Amino acid sequence: MHAYIAPLRLRLDGDALVSNWRWLAAKGGGAACGAAIKADGYGLGAVEAMRRLLRAGCRDFFVSNWGEAALVEPLLETGVNLSILHGVRVEDMPQALASRARPVLCTPAQVARWRDAGGGACDVMVDTGMNRLGLDWRGEIAALVEGLEIATLMSHLASADEDVAFNAAQQARFVGIRRAVAAARYSLANSAGICLGRDYHFDLTRPGLALYGGIPRDQAAGHVRAVVQPQAQVLQRRRLIAGDSIGYNATFTATRDHEVAILNLGYADGYLRGFSGKGAVIIDGARLPVLGRVSMDLIAVDVSARAEVGEGDWLTIDYALPDAAALSGLSQYELLTGLGARFDRLWD
Ligand SMILES: *Cc1c(COP(=O)(O)O)cnc(C)c1O
Repeated sequence: MHAYIAPLRLRLDGDALVSNWRWLAAKGGGAACGAAIKADGYGLGAVEAMRRLLRAGCRDFFVSNWGEAALVEPLLETGVNLSILHGVRVEDMPQALASRARPVLCTPAQVARWRDAGGGACDVMVDTGMNRLGLDWRGEIAALVEGLEIATLMSHLASADEDVAFNAAQQARFVGIRRAVAAARYSLANSAGICLGRDYHFDLTRPGLALYGGIPRDQAAGHVRAVVQPQAQVLQRRRLIAGDSIGYNATFTATRDHEVAILNLGYADGYLRGFSGKGAVIIDGARLPVLGRVSMDLIAVDVSARAEVGEGDWLTIDYALPDAAALSGLSQYELLTGLGARFDRLWD
């Protein structure tokens, strides 16, 4: 038996991941720098990302739910924290009570559930205006959390990637909460929040996007390195004669002869139809455009200028995150987390 080699792969740069974490840690000043590894490490692989960040010195990790927690729990060692951002449901209690991971309690019911069960150390999320998860900042938070042993009290910024007054408003609300509620540590900033400056850093930061090569704000450009490079194999090279069309609904019709490579990549892999007629592969710095629609499992690219490209070759997809986001109409987050299960994930 031999291991299956998929016709599409992600080249993942472990040095870039670590370099991004170090840059974020330095940018965060005296705050400890954690890592959001939810959604399977933003699509790259939570276990492999966590392993590398642990070696680099990261001690605080964040996942969404207890299913994700179970995948990385074997990596936990003394002094390493794993926080479960969605808190703890009734269904999660047996696992949560047996786990070294901590729930981030988000609702009064979760607080009561954890306290009544004598669950021990926990985190608490306070909502300072995003109106997503967390205890309402206008409530009697100190009374609500009475008796809890709070490791990290946190809140989350809604618009840290923009220059809006809402950031300072959330920050001020969080400072108020910090005065009123005792916790071992306080944490507010995601990737973009780290770039907002020291008032936002508190004791612990929680970057996700920028670890994986996303550029959350201009300040990160030139510092955050790309981590992910999707590559796909050429399944067929074919000739298009002027007047021929290509792909579903024949959205591209050749006005001259073309040489085309058909690649094993499609929207089922997260290469969504927004890239139809817009995406490209990169060879020696040159962009070779995607022609016609992206199919479920296939795309066609123009290789007229590249006589050497043939069946079995690997081509690198242009996936520079901010540009690919602008091109496709997807966010950088979607571009990462959408990367599908069919890629082999190969860490350098
Ligand atoms: C996802 C998430 C983060 C990380 O955000 P990025 O924008 O990816 O850096 C931090 N905190 C919370 C609560 C999150 O849900």
